[in-house]
Amino acid sequence: MTILTPNSPTAELQRADAAHHMHPFTHGQGLNDRGARVITRAEGCWLNDSEGNRILDAMAGLWCVNIGYGRRELAQAAARQMEELPYYNTFFQTTHVPAINLAARIAELAPGDLNHVFFASSGSEANDTNLRLVRTYWAEKGQPERQWVISRWNAYHGSSVGSGSLGGMKGMHTQGGMPIPGIAHIDQPDWWSEGGDMTPEDFGRARAKQLEDKILELGPENVAAFIAEPVQGAGGVIVAPDTYWPEVQKIVDKYGILLIADEVICGFGRTGRWFGSETVGIRPDIMTIAKGLSSGYQPIGGSVLSDEVASVISGTEFNHGYTYSGHPVACAVALENLRILDEEGVVDRVASDTGPYLKERFESLTDHPLVGEAKIVGMMGSLALTPDKASRAAFASEAGTVGYITRERCFANNLIMRHVGDRMIISPPLVISREEIDVLIERAWQSLDEAHEELKAQGLMKAR
Ligand SMILES: *Cc1c(COP(=O)(O)O)cnc(C)c1O
Repeated sequence: MTILTPNSPTAELQRADAAHHMHPFTHGQGLNDRGARVITRAEGCWLNDSEGNRILDAMAGLWCVNIGYGRRELAQAAARQMEELPYYNTFFQTTHVPAINLAARIAELAPGDLNHVFFASSGSEANDTNLRLVRTYWAEKGQPERQWVISRWNAYHGSSVGSGSLGGMKGMHTQGGMPIPGIAHIDQPDWWSEGGDMTPEDFGRARAKQLEDKILELGPENVAAFIAEPVQGAGGVIVAPDTYWPEVQKIVDKYGILLIADEVICGFGRTGRWFGSETVGIRPDIMTIAKGLSSGYQPIGGSVLSDEVASVISGTEFNHGYTYSGHPVACAVALENLRILDEEGVVDRVASDTGPYLKERFESLTDHPLVGEAKIVGMMGSLALTPDKASRAAFASEAGTVGYITRERCFANNLIMRHVGDRMIISPPLVISREEIDVLIERAWQSLDEAHEELKAQGLMKAR
């Protein structure tokens, strides 16, 4: 076997990739026929590919590279830790310094009394932990019948059997026997697509009311928890109307059910506060964290528990854990990442400077004939594409056709934007500068123009 390098010919890299490497969330044959784009290096907000292109990464990898690429300090933290103690577990009455420090730092940053961290290596694993945690919590409280967890359609909570079941992606549920029993879903607060003739305010209240209806249908004595992302990410950056979250908080309080905020994307500055829960004004009992925790430099996630939940769980032996729970190298890198985000004022800058600037520029894209709505919170935003702004119409073509065409134009213009159905979404590194925001908006506009021409030529500018 030849070991390939970033300088190997692209075709050769693509051939080897197609032969042996299977990609997540990908139609394998479709990809192999076209060949994957090979990313070779990255610095700041910019990627390089094997063809010599410089690409603006407006997705921060997969929503995770909050600090930007190429930070030496993180590489050095990893190297130091690998030399000192590359691995040890935290089972069986042992611990190590990186896990101690990182848990304490997370407790300091997390709101309220969310002071206890159970580590995992990903968001999926952390949500699997949460599923077992909340049920164990109620069993320990003498209410073992509290098994149901309520989630939302089109939520994303991970891709393992447990977390994929918690999520509400119907396309995932059709494969591999999901969802597992004991999980119920209610509708999402997506006013643009599902709000009909209601005002956003009334719609927000109506969607929150579905939570209460579901609790009553299942019997409050049977419900363990409600899980939700403060701002839905993979579902298309769905920002709930202002009326939604206060109602949800009232309802979970009224029935005494646990609130799990999935902060895997929203956490660590993405919304302009350290946590999305602060931005939308909720008081979760448990938060799921991953992605921005290490800015993606190492795989690490976790569950952050309130004093009360942690004290109940601590009353029993919780038969759960991962070989890499609190991996020392991942913890050391995450700690360094949090130090830099804090000391360089990255989160504050999103709140007071680059976030507002991005919002103003991003919202100007609604002047484009294809764009019906632009929604943005901190550094996560979405554009709803439509053939008719006034009626908020969907396209007649299969959902995602227009989004895909638009994403391909972005790709060709060296801008990474993702599409979810016929929405275009961004989630750039938090360190993106005003100048880079200008480049992002220019390329997005250009790509929308080209997509618009292509749609007209193909007769796709039709409402459903
Ligand atoms: C990405 C994501 C997850 C899953 O995290 P992985 O690290 O991919 O397992 C869970 N919840 C949300 C909100 C996410 O965006």
